[in-house]
Amino acid sequence: MKNLKPIIVAVLTISVLISCTSKQEKMEKRLRDFLTDYDAKVIPMYKEASITSWNANITGTDADLATSEKASFELNKFFTDKNAFAELKEIKESNAVKDSILLRQLDLIYDSYLGNQIDTSLISTRLKMETDINKKYLNFRAKVDGKNLSDNQVEEILRNSVSSPELQAVWEAHKQIGPIVAEDIIKLVKHRNLIARNLGFSNFHEMSLKLSDQDPAEVTATFDELDNLTRANFAQLKGEIDTFFAKRYGLKVSELQPWHYQNRFFQEAPEIYPVDFDKYYTTQDPVKLVAAFYDGIGLNVDAILAKSDLYEKPGKNQHAFCTDIDRSGDVRTLDNIKPDSYWMNTILHELGHGVYSYYNDSALPFTLRDAAHTFTTEAIANLFGRMATNPQWMRNMGIIDANECAKIDEDARKSLRLQMLVFSRWTQVVYRFEKSMYENPDQDLNKLWWDMVEKYQMIKKPEGRNMPDWATKIHIALYPCYYHNYLLGELLASQIYSYLTTNITKNPSLVGDKAVGKYLQEKIFMPGARYQWNEMIEKATGEKLTAKYYAKQFLE
Ligand SMILES: [Zn+2]
Repeated sequence: MKNLKPIIVAVLTISVLISCTSKQEKMEKRLRDFLTDYDAKVIPMYKEASITSWNANITGTDADLATSEKASFELNKFFTDKNAFAELKEIKESNAVKDSILLRQLDLIYDSYLGNQIDTSLISTRLKMETDINKKYLNFRAKVDGKNLSDNQVEEILRNSVSSPELQAVWEAHKQIGPIVAEDIIKLVKHRNLIARNLGFSNFHEMSLKLSDQDPAEVTATFDELDNLTRANFAQLKGEIDTFFAKRYGLKVSELQPWHYQNRFFQEAPEIYPVDFDKYYTTQDPVKLVAAFYDGIGLNVDAILAKSDLYEKPGKNQHAFCTDIDRSGDVRTLDNIKPDSYWMNTILHELGHGVYSYYNDSALPFTLRDAAHTFTTEAIANLFGRMATNPQWMRNMGIIDANECAKIDEDARKSLRLQMLVFSRWTQVVYRFEKSMYENPDQDLNKLWWDMVEKYQMIKKPEGRNMPDWATKIHIALYPCYYHNYLLGELLASQIYSYLTTNITKNPSLVGDKAVGKYLQEKIFMPGARYQWNEMIEKATGEKLTAKYYAKQFLE
């Protein structure tokens, strides 16, 4: 009798184990079956959407645009399937899937379906509202003295004019888009919130972040950390900027207004340092340089360049992007390269995305052969893009000599630092405004916007101004709750760069060191989306995402 109890316990334990294992096996088999079917359908649709979009961006013809739109629509429609979602939900809620590769696919695919599990009329209403607002932005031109100005023309005047009345007139004219779209945007914000609440989220901001694998509290904590780190440095630089502009416009510092900062939103660094990078590139071939650089670090890009479309053409998209057509080696970049520092930065940046995609792990399933997050690929792109104005890099690539390198070193460092700080303070405004707006769209948004601008950018609201200036930034309306990723990408670029130059290479320009490519491929590119992004970052750098290295690089 004495031994009976342990025996019963043992029998019970075994039976519990058996039932657990069989439940795990059953659910994992159901998921495997689901994934086989899912991959068979999604992979061809994904390729079709990427290739048709590529073609449309090259030719710009109505026919190619229509084909591309149809392919994207089909791919999106796929994720509205209610039966497929019900199956995934049951598997997920069983908590029985333990295999980490299966579990990761389950989480990612589940989120893709979840965001589309609403009444299709709510989706089409949202699309219609967005299209209508987009048309208003597209058709709007700032009017000054009866003349219509494009955004580029507005920026040009703000950058070059030294006449305060002209600057004010142009700035105010551009802000006239605000009252045209503000009411529509508030309606759209409320509609997006309605969709989010239908899916069980408290508002659209929370939903957007959570469905892209970000915890809003964590992102806010990073922004708080960065605010604390940058505030004093920015205040000091802002003092330098103000002194520079007061002199330039013949004003007292206290008389400076938002239109005196060379940019519609003060989102880019004003030109207060004398270094001109363009002149070094007029006799260079950015494509040759970029091919030699990536080959030198062990990440040859010839196959990517061979499939790419690098130069201007009629009808072609005027910007730049990189696309992974099939996650099986067909990676391409579209550019409009000219021999200047902007395009040197851009081609380095785009091929940063390119190598991240190209050097993936073909053994991973399709869903995981992707970046850990959009901001992690942005980080790699930024890390390399920054090199275009790095004097050591320029010297080691044979663009400038040692004398020139020493001559511009200080100003180059200062201007990158200024660029980073100005952009980071601006991103604080956008992130915090959006978060608060989605929490309460009925509050005084005009006041909220200027409170943020005054606090983070340290720019004074013009006396008595009460206008929807927040609505003049198109991202607020049409690319919602995404802007923070640009800043997270910069933070991670600095974190990876610091890890590289501390542990992997002695060469701060990275030029010619194959250990750099080997590290990036093994620790960042090959893991793909295998791990949650912060887990990947911790495995690759020994720490979770932190603003520490960005601060170290730009604030000391
Ligand atoms: Zn990018």
